[in-house]
Amino acid sequence: MRKKATGRGPWVNWAGDESCTPRRTLRPGSVDEVAAATKGAAAEGRTVRVVGAGHSFNDQVCTDGLLLNLDRMSGLRHVDAEAGLVTVGAGTRLSELNAQLARHGLALPNLGDIDRQSVAGAMSTGTHGTGRLLGNLATQIKALDLVLADGTTLTCTEADPEILRAARVSLGSLGVITSYTLRVVPAFALRAETRTMPLARTLDSLDDLVDGNDHFEFFLFPHSDAALVKMNNRTGDAVRPPRELARSVAEFAENGLFDAACRAGRRFPSQIPLLNRAVTRLMAPSSHVDHSHRVFASKRSVRFTEMEWAVPRAACTEVLQEILRVIDRERLDVGFPIEVRFVAPDELSHLSPAYGRETAYLAVHMYQGMPWERYFRSVQDIALAFEGRPHWGKRHLMTAEGLAGRYPAWARFQAVRSRLDPHGTFTNAHLRRVLGPVGGSATC
Ligand SMILES: Cc1cc2nc3c(=O)[nH]c(=O)nc-3n(C[C@H](O)[C@H](O)[C@H](O)COP(=O)(O)OP(=O)(O)OC[C@H]3O[C@@H](n4cnc5c(N)ncnc54)[C@H](O)[C@@H]3O)c2cc1C
Repeated sequence: MRKKATGRGPWVNWAGDESCTPRRTLRPGSVDEVAAATKGAAAEGRTVRVVGAGHSFNDQVCTDGLLLNLDRMSGLRHVDAEAGLVTVGAGTRLSELNAQLARHGLALPNLGDIDRQSVAGAMSTGTHGTGRLLGNLATQIKALDLVLADGTTLTCTEADPEILRAARVSLGSLGVITSYTLRVVPAFALRAETRTMPLARTLDSLDDLVDGNDHFEFFLFPHSDAALVKMNNRTGDAVRPPRELARSVAEFAENGLFDAACRAGRRFPSQIPLLNRAVTRLMAPSSHVDHSHRVFASKRSVRFTEMEWAVPRAACTEVLQEILRVIDRERLDVGFPIEVRFVAPDELSHLSPAYGRETAYLAVHMYQGMPWERYFRSVQDIALAFEGRPHWGKRHLMTAEGLAGRYPAWARFQAVRSRLDPHGTFTNAHLRRVLGPVGGSATC
């Protein structure tokens, strides 16, 4: 049975394949309670981790020390619609934030494809959507409050950009973030269009598709020659969400039917190519206009694990073709589509995977209970050859030594980390692996 990170028992992530037993799990309701819990744990020599919604695909939340859950520190605290700024509790789920923003006629300019994450979890791992002019979600952070190991609170603003740039995407390694001030935009509607296109034509016209749509992405099913393309564009047209029945049918196709195909593929891997081709034939074109947050977020009940790479946008097609070649050559049983998205460059977070370059994100998945390591390792080797950087919230097999040189601001991040968490209170095995020990030598 799936357990939530609210009791004293084991903690399990969304995918159900990472778990740990914290010595203690607390749900503080105020900054003072966070400070007392953190200071107390540090004084006892214990480590502290924070869990958001547990939707990361790796073990970065895990601890045998203190696990903090900030669900009680949620909701909008301050709204300045004119300035386009809101302050929000770090534990707020994106779904709740979207609903509260909508009541004020506001919205986030972009989102990923689900809205179950906490704001802090999404920001801290560099979560992104798609849109060549839009950065990952953390680029919307104007300020944040951070509780350090000694219980003091640091308000990180653009007045000290070095700390803010380290903290935006920081995997919980600097302290406990208790609130954010975010830049928001007036609420907007999107026309959402989905259709299948031959893969060859999609790749031939990729630049036009990416540049010609506000939010463009595509999914391609290995062993098939079709891509499912999704184009979301801002519109002044009236909102006309799909009827409840149509929405339910679409959700059933995306979740129930797809899950059945995945189960069949897990049982009979040799049938995966056939199943993939059948799934692409079932995908019907659709078009509707809805509020942006309702268009961006989908329901995902099929459980899987995932790896995702940020590569220079110009290398996208080549990387994709290499992945398809390796799937064929090594006869990998891959039933899940590869998802391709596009993100603007930013230098606002030292650890942004889109740091300093127009970025294509390529995500590969494996259905729960199926072996993923051979596939993911092959994809990683390909991505690394194209200057790839892994998504911090997903699976990868890298260590700090291999990552340091891929991030131009790596050493600057580590300098802030050494300053804010000198004793490694907020570290765990995952962070030691991917960021190295605090004050360690894995620098560029
Ligand atoms: C079905 C599914 C769909 C997804 N879709 C997308 C997508 O479209 N785009 C994308 O980029 N990613 C996507 N992801 C990945 C997901 O957005 C990230 O893994 C995100 O971190 C999950 O948020 P969370 O609240 O569950 O964070 P958690 O996994 O709980 O935590 C993530 C990190 O944030 C830290 N953290 C959490 N709260 C705090 C805090 N208050 N202070 C300090 N550190 C904190 C944790 O310690 C941890 O290091 C998806 C994941 C799933 C399961």
